[in-house]
This record gives sequence, structure tokens and C-alpha cells, in this order.
Amino acid sequence: MTASPSRPVSLDAESRPGGSLKPLFGLDAESLAACMVEVEEPGWRGAQLAEAIYRQRVRSLDEITTLSKALRERLSGSGWEIGRPSIVSVFKSTDGTERYLIRALDDQTVEAVWMPEGDGGEAGDGSDAGQPEMHRVPSFRRFSGERVGTRESPASRSMQQPSERNPESSKSWNRATICVSSQVGCAVNCQFCLTAKLGLQRNLSAGEIAGQVVSVLDRHNVEVGRDRINLVFMGMGEPFLNYNSFMAAVRLLVREVGISPQRMTVSTSGIVPGIERFASEPDEVRPKLAISLNAPNDAIRGEVMPINRKWPIETVVDAVRAVPLRPRERITFEYVLLGGVTDRPEHAAEVARLVRRTGLPAKVNLIAWNPGPGIEYTMPTAESVEVFQSRLAEAGISVYLRRPRGRDIFAACGQLKRTVEA
Ligand code: SF4
Repeated sequence: MTASPSRPVSLDAESRPGGSLKPLFGLDAESLAACMVEVEEPGWRGAQLAEAIYRQRVRSLDEITTLSKALRERLSGSGWEIGRPSIVSVFKSTDGTERYLIRALDDQTVEAVWMPEGDGGEAGDGSDAGQPEMHRVPSFRRFSGERVGTRESPASRSMQQPSERNPESSKSWNRATICVSSQVGCAVNCQFCLTAKLGLQRNLSAGEIAGQVVSVLDRHNVEVGRDRINLVFMGMGEPFLNYNSFMAAVRLLVREVGISPQRMTVSTSGIVPGIERFASEPDEVRPKLAISLNAPNDAIRGEVMPINRKWPIETVVDAVRAVPLRPRERITFEYVLLGGVTDRPEHAAEVARLVRRTGLPAKVNLIAWNPGPGIEYTMPTAESVEVFQSRLAEAGISVYLRRPRGRDIFAACGQLKRTVEA
């Protein structure tokens, strides 16, 4: 792992750049109760706040009709605001994918992605997987996404927030996946990844992570509990290098927003201390686990993912073995196919042996590498992807091909880098 070029910044209200307002969004039920006590109200009113913030998705105190005007003014007078991160730019792909720039209260932006019908690799049991589209690898087009919305000034923010909701959203989707970021940039330095070019700029708070999800749910009028929504923590950053905030966000999403942890998958590059902590999380808040493998052996993985020199494959697998799995749950091995580097038939045979050796209930998600400026790798050919997948399947490994989503708007795996700001 490379050293972080900048220190993580806490987003506590006191330390937020230029901000004395205190965001309610990101607080759990207990903290919301304490907030009510602070304004001399009974703690149980915290549940009303939680309902309004996380279920009704209000964006201003004025919208909370279950609280009196006087109480809303007292909250506001004490410096509290909703403070949910807001969508400031939307890039639409021709395939229906949307990539968002989402702005935190300190104006830092981070990216999230909406994929209607998913990308074929969401469910640990494969039940949600779409049909692999091995012959439909689209050509790469740069900056062809439609950009709607603009960066507003902080002064105009509250006026423009209502436009976050998508007036065109007619629920033409049956299910959807939201890809969520956990850090601004990333320190892990995977050689194929555009986000790595940013380095680590800062960690995201729990509210900033959960806020991406709630903003996107709001935009698409998602009815949690009725609509089929998957979350993948596979956007910018390494979740297990921001462990506390990541897990606090998961707890919010489970307990307050109402999304099952079995509808969530967290992907790690193999941060062993993080996996060890994750193994002790209770079932009720533990997402499914994906390991970003991306190479058939330590020699190649060490080149493609320098983190492997610190935690080689076997060390990672040992840590994964300690993660308790629910009935039918499987570990996912994500595997990016890099043309000529990790996509050969002999690599497939090696991956099959490796996965079998782990003894884990597992599946492999293949991802044809998504190109990005300044990265020297080449895309695998459609033929090499097909052969790789077949070899794994013939060896008895469950294997899915993730459909490339939103390549034309830099929304695909490994492409998130706030390209609009470049
Ligand atoms: S692939 Fe993930 S862990 Fe690796 S550099 Fe990119 S964002 Fe970080």
C-alpha cells in the first residue's frame, strides 16, 4: 500500500471547514435522541427525527411535519440542520446507468453510480445475476455522457436541492444496484484503477457514505422494502481503510433506512486487519464480502495490486475463512481481466485451483477491464473473456461476467475519478 498523501479529515461539525452548522444526517437513533434532549425534548422524539431523515428523506427541517414549528426553530437555533450530501451533477449513460457527483457539506465531491437492472454480479448466490453479455463489449467513448445539473454555489444549494429528484423516473427498472464510495480517492494504488490516480484525499464520514445511498434512493423514488435494491461498496476508496465510518454507515442503512445487509456487498482489496474485524460483525449488519483478487498468483498480483506485497493471497484467504457465512452465502472473488496480463487460459486454470484450494463457498465475478486515461493496460478481447469464463466453468467454479455499465460516462468499475473536474 502506498502512503496516504493527505491526512483523513474528520467531518465532525466542529472541524468542518467553514461550518458551524451540525448535520443530523449520519447520526444514529441514540445520537438523535441525545440531540432532542439537548433542545429539552424527550429522547423518544429522536425516533421522529430518524423517520423523517432516513425514511421520508427530508432535506430541510421545515419538511418535518411531525415536529412543531417551534421545535424545528429550536433545533435550527441550536445549529442543527439535515445536512444530507446532495447530488450536484448527473452523467447519463446510453445504457441507463447514471453517475453522480455528490457534494458533502465542505464542498468535497464524491461519486456514486446507479445501475438499473444491475451489472450481473450483485447477488452472492447468483440469483440476481443477469445473462453474461460476452459479445457486447462496447467501444470506448470519452466524455459522451449527458451532463445535467451543475455545481451550484453554497448560497444556492438549498434552492436547487429539490431538483435532485428525477422527474423522469418512472420506475422502468425491476431492480437496481447503487455503487457507493467510501473515501475521496484511494491510497491502495491498484495499477488498473483510475481512482488510484487521485491518491487518498480524505475519508468519508458515515453520513457521507449513507447519504450517497439516500440521495440516489430519493432521486429514483425507491420504495425500500418493496423495490429490489442492491448496494455495492465498490466505488471510490477502500472501505476497510475507513472501517469505522463504513460500518457506521452500514448500520444506518440497515437500521434506519431499512436495507437488508444481505442486499449489500463490500469489496476489499485484501486489507487483512479489516477482514478480521469484519468477521466479528453480527449477521444483522454484516454485508456480503467480495475480495478483489484480479490476478492468478502473488507474482502478478503484486505487480497489479502493490497491496499484495503486504498481504499476499494466502494471508487474505486465511482471514476470509474466519468470516461466518449465512446459509447459501458465498464469498465473491472479483477478477479484472487485463488484456495479456491476467486473461490467459492458464491464468483461468490457476484461478480455478486457487478458488478450490480456499475450500470456501465462492463464486468468481469477471470484469473486462474498463479503460481510463493514463492507464497503460489494454482491454481483453471478447474471445479471451469467453475462454476465461468457460475454463472456470469447466473447472466447476461458479462464474459470472459483470456487464460493463456506463463506460461512456466513466461510471464503470475502476473508472471513478471525478472526471468532470479534471
Ligand atoms: S480498485 Fe479500489 S482499492 Fe484499488 S485503487 Fe481503485 S478504488 Fe482503491
